[in-house]
Amino acid sequence: MAASQAIAEFIKALGKEKVLTDREDLLCYSYDATPDVPGALPEAVVMPENTAEVAQVIKIAGRYRVPVYPRGAGTNLSGGTVPVRGGIVLSLLKMNKILEIDADNLIAVVQPGVVNQALNDALAPYGVFYPPDPGSAATATMGGNVAECSGGLRGLKYGVTKDYVQGLEVVLADGTVVRLGGKTVKNVAGYDLVKLFVGSEGTLGIITEITVRLLPVPESRCSMLAVFADLEAAGNAVSDIIRHKVIPATLEILDKVTIRTVEDYLHIGLPVEAEAILLVETDGIKEVVEKEKEVLRRVLEKHGALVRIAAGEQERDQLWAGRRAALPALARVKPTTVLEDATVPRSQVTRMLAAIREIGQKYNVLIGNFGHAGDGNLHPTILTDARNEEEMERVHRAVEEIFKKALELGGTLSGEHGIGLAKKRFLPWQVGPEGLALMKKIKRALDPLNILNPGKFVDSADLDENGEKREGEGETGR
Ligand SMILES: Cc1cc2nc3c(=O)[nH]c(=O)nc-3n(C[C@H](O)[C@H](O)[C@H](O)COP(=O)(O)OP(=O)(O)OC[C@H]3O[C@@H](n4cnc5c(N)ncnc54)[C@H](O)[C@@H]3O)c2cc1C
Repeated sequence: MAASQAIAEFIKALGKEKVLTDREDLLCYSYDATPDVPGALPEAVVMPENTAEVAQVIKIAGRYRVPVYPRGAGTNLSGGTVPVRGGIVLSLLKMNKILEIDADNLIAVVQPGVVNQALNDALAPYGVFYPPDPGSAATATMGGNVAECSGGLRGLKYGVTKDYVQGLEVVLADGTVVRLGGKTVKNVAGYDLVKLFVGSEGTLGIITEITVRLLPVPESRCSMLAVFADLEAAGNAVSDIIRHKVIPATLEILDKVTIRTVEDYLHIGLPVEAEAILLVETDGIKEVVEKEKEVLRRVLEKHGALVRIAAGEQERDQLWAGRRAALPALARVKPTTVLEDATVPRSQVTRMLAAIREIGQKYNVLIGNFGHAGDGNLHPTILTDARNEEEMERVHRAVEEIFKKALELGGTLSGEHGIGLAKKRFLPWQVGPEGLALMKKIKRALDPLNILNPGKFVDSADLDENGEKREGEGETGR
């Protein structure tokens, strides 16, 4: 009832064309890219075009206590946009303008619905770029990138989203619009609230404008493929490269299962007999790139790799297309793809690789492993079938053990995909009851009615509809 009254008000405020209520439309917004997380139907999808409309929507939603699930492209891998408590999906896709490119100050200002790759395409003529480049850059939005604090293939040298967000405009849970941070590189006026919203997964406010830092495009780059007959040797090479004081722009690993699957999908001549490959790219000033190329070659060969330097842009692009195809290729093998994101300190990559292989054998599940090895960020991907209950039970036990191992090695549950719904029940393992209690306090302070992305990692189901405390219930993820 409350929702239908709210929907009538959304239509009155924004117009019928910006409020979807047909069942076929709602179905499209009932799930995201996360496998193994059940979908849930929203009651409406609301598509504002500007900040004022977002604020109007949030005020109406608050008045009727209607849950609001912000959504960009829906490519997240933690169930972040699934409307588990009904209410509305707030699509930011219509807010897709690049508002400013200030190449002199190395700054761009964008709306949240701008696609990551579209920003970089627009920046290219200025000789500058926005470094964070998730594998989903061709579809994922800047709003989603900020809300997940996305990483990507260039994280090792260039860092992740939080390192580039300087300013935000945010619509708070009561409809107030705040502007945080700004264009200056230095800014220490009060709490660093920009950082609070980066990675907040839509639970604290709606991001309506983003100011990001840019970098000049490096003048030269060199990509190489290192082929290993042994998985551990590849892991050891990763740590050794850093030990030699070379920080490549990109240092990615693909294991045997992934190599074969990608080759089967793209036919680009990957070495299918190899146990692992590393894809490495160094960039910067020409002379430095030349020097680093030789150091990298030497270190990789020391660990038994056969090294092939990409002859030109075409070969380079092919290698990186292969890497970007890892997840889509693995997803073709079986009906269900359970992709994880456990991350360890770089020096522990070899141990983590070995542990994942052993866990796969122990639970008799097929795991393809790839990821940003240079960041210690691996993506063990379990290929399975959600209809097979007995196998899914083994899959879930394997996932738990992978997380336990990552934490034991000093790592984290998530390097870049966030907690959302999928890893909600594991979060206390990492942050402890005190850490979780602090997160809930922040959530309650900013969203006392619990209308923003409710049911996710900061579960305020223990607040009743008046914002009073009551015993928790809520979803537990898988
Ligand atoms: C093939 C593939 C490869 C990927 N590779 C990578 C990778 O290399 N690195 C990486 O980090 N991730 C990767 N991802 C995960 C995903 O693409 C990122 O998390 C991405 O940032 C999500 O963007 P999106 O626009 O799809 O956001 P969505 O999935 O729509 O939303 C993500 C979260 O952000 C919230 N949100 C969205 N917009 C807003 C807003 N304006 N205000 C407040 N909250 C908002 C949502 O509620 C949700 O919690 C990959 C995914 C796929 C499918």
